[in-house]
Amino acid sequence: MDNLFSDDDIATSTDELARRVYTSRLLGRDKSLVLHGGGNTSVKVVERNAFGEEEEILYVKGSGWDLETIAAEGFAPVELAHAKRLAELPSLSDPAMVNELLTHMKRASAPGPSVETILHAILPYKYVDHTHADALITVTNSLDGEARIREIYGDSVVVVPYVMPGFDLARLCAERFSRQAGARTIGMVLMNHGIFSFGATAKESYERMIALVARAEAYLQEKQAWDIASTAAAAATNAGLEIARLRRDIAAVAGFPVIMSRHADEQTLSFVRRGDLATISQQGPATPDHVIRTKRLPLLGRDVPAYAAAYGAYFAAHEPLAKERKTMLDPAPRVVLDPELGLCAVGRSAKDAAIVAEIYAHTMQIIARATALGGYRALPAQDIFDVEYWDLEQAKLAKSGKPAPFAGEVALVTGAASGIGKACVASLLARGAAVVGIDLNPAITTLQQRPDFLGLQCDVAAADQLRTVLARTADAYGGLDMVVLNAGIFPGGCRIDALATEEWRRVMEVNLDANFVLMRESHPFLKLAPRGGRVVIIGSKNVPAPGPGAAAYSASKAALNQLARVAALEWGGDNIRINSLHPNAVFDTGIWSDEVLASRAQHYGLTVEAYEKNNVLKTEVSSRDVAELAAEMCGALFAKTTGAQLPVDGGNDRVI
Ligand SMILES: [Zn+2]
Repeated sequence: MDNLFSDDDIATSTDELARRVYTSRLLGRDKSLVLHGGGNTSVKVVERNAFGEEEEILYVKGSGWDLETIAAEGFAPVELAHAKRLAELPSLSDPAMVNELLTHMKRASAPGPSVETILHAILPYKYVDHTHADALITVTNSLDGEARIREIYGDSVVVVPYVMPGFDLARLCAERFSRQAGARTIGMVLMNHGIFSFGATAKESYERMIALVARAEAYLQEKQAWDIASTAAAAATNAGLEIARLRRDIAAVAGFPVIMSRHADEQTLSFVRRGDLATISQQGPATPDHVIRTKRLPLLGRDVPAYAAAYGAYFAAHEPLAKERKTMLDPAPRVVLDPELGLCAVGRSAKDAAIVAEIYAHTMQIIARATALGGYRALPAQDIFDVEYWDLEQAKLAKSGKPAPFAGEVALVTGAASGIGKACVASLLARGAAVVGIDLNPAITTLQQRPDFLGLQCDVAAADQLRTVLARTADAYGGLDMVVLNAGIFPGGCRIDALATEEWRRVMEVNLDANFVLMRESHPFLKLAPRGGRVVIIGSKNVPAPGPGAAAYSASKAALNQLARVAALEWGGDNIRINSLHPNAVFDTGIWSDEVLASRAQHYGLTVEAYEKNNVLKTEVSSRDVAELAAEMCGALFAKTTGAQLPVDGGNDRVI
């Protein structure tokens, strides 16, 4: 546990909220303290209102903000006196509590305050910090957890038994705090949940958090429950199609396509191959708010229908005990532990899947350490159910809009580093797909820095490299739903009587053979696509209307066109659609430099502008126009169309 505080960073600031932002970010930077929106912090500040009167305001973390990146506007300014008065009520429902807090804030544009706001309000300290520190949870979630906490901390913390976050927890903390707090109290441990620290300054509160968590770490080290040996012998095998089958099964019970990332590092494999996995992994999450991301239990192995049935039984058993009626969430697992595959993390987007993977990586370590300490003990299923089906979470569900058209789906684009391919990547990402872009140009690996894009350098003419791309696609996102065949070469003009055999073969190899191999190798993946596979071929105007001097190019594109038509006939039964589009004169690509454009325009006796719009509609065709059509061809608009060919050329009199 490192203390990251540096006096230099905030020495110049006398602003109490700025200091709050600074140490909140320090906490957020350490993933062993808080993960993805977890944890919260506050500061109590005296401010003057519009009438010049002094008021105490509680600035508390707003929902939707992450401590790692929080800014001043991420804190909700709540009237402290009102929040403290609420804590005195005998009871208050969580929606009513949220309403009270939202109607007693000082800035109309502020985010909703944390559900732990009242708890922050009742603690009589200027600065309050709250985390779900791994080391602390490891101890509270082990056999004799409470006794161990008292052994580690003595009277330096107040200990509060588990109660679900919200009004009731704030009430219980107020009561325990007034009874247990003494001169040496610097924090508060919430069993099976997390830890609070507090102080007169941002620095004091932060440093107490670090010191408290460090004591739990030292205790685990002392008890030989810190370093967990990795024992995984053989690395996981290449299992692209096994992964795609698992994803298909999960999507079937979820009712929507999902992204699934696979993790097979030594530590993960070592965990999933443990002899006691069936016991230790089936207790429950390390802290209840993880349930929203990970579900209560991981799937062991690959029997997805059995998992869905067990989830239905869990809902049926616990729902009748809830205060109001609940809507069942989808019964699909979010974490899969398989001795051969490793860990598979499931989400509606690549970002969601990455969050699941990160939370479970921490969970595995917590479980392994608590097991070494004497036994991992999570909360009973009913407590987890109450958080998973909390009315505030259910309300979010009802408000959530329609997902993006390609949410949970995976697309592969060839020749993706520039021109039409690059534009296709953008159009598919904009529709919510996770995209794998491949290109000979190494710039592809850094084309987009985001979790839903994977750029791989690849020579499409090398079959083994294409197979590697498909395996890596399955590892990263779980399968393949769409392929855009765009890569191609257009050598300089050359008439047949002077065309070298080598040149002819090279064009055929890239424009035809490579696409044939990729189609063949993609087919078993596309067959497993939850909503059916789609292939879009970027053809050429040269297919219906060839020109002199482009024999190899025109012949290769025409052959590719015929290949696509046969594939449409053969793969329709596998629910795979193949459609082609024929662009012409798309000038915003790498081939068309300003000089080339000027010289071609001059050749035809036209201005550059007239040359660019030299078509029936007198319009310019851009890479984006082609890409948008390619993306639409994968979507609902073309759901009933296969084997089609569409021009995207502004109208060409030879084609029409
Ligand atoms: Zn918490």
